[in-house]
Order: sequence, then structure tokens, then C-alpha cells
Amino acid sequence: MRTTQGWTTCWACGKRGYQTRRSAKRIKEIMHDDRLSVYRCLDGGSNYHIGHLDKQIIAGQVDRFTYYYPEISMNDIDRGV
Ligand SMILES: [Zn+2]
Repeated sequence: MRTTQGWTTCWACGKRGYQTRRSAKRIKEIMHDDRLSVYRCLDGGSNYHIGHLDKQIIAGQVDRFTYYYPEISMNDIDRGV
């Protein structure tokens, strides 16, 4: 298992996983992207991941498209607007 970068491949979801929230946050600070968030693995793994995920999205209440483009409705897409 690769640990030299401070991360391992998550056995549960296959994403890059950090063992502690602190180390994940440190990487996030380096990335300078305010939309990134640190979250516990959603697939039952023990790692922390970094991603463009809002709590609503994690909870499954809002899908990513609706969250980032609320002004575009699916009807517009169907019409090709
Ligand atoms: Zn995971």
C-alpha cells in the first residue's frame, strides 16, 4: 500500500484516501480551491477524501448538476437551450 504521499487508495471506493481529516485538510489548503471539502468516505471506508461535494450532495438531497447550475432546468436541456 502506498503511503509516501500521505494517502492510500481507498479500499471501499477506489479514490485517493487520507487517513486523517487533518492530513486531508492540509492537502486541501495546498490546492486553494474553496469548493473542495473534506469528507469521510461515503462507501464505508475509513479514509477521508477531498472533493467538490456539498453536504446536500453527500446526503443525496441534491445532485451535482442541480447544485452548480440551479438556473438551468432539465426542460431547457431537453429542448436544447
Ligand atoms: Zn472511499
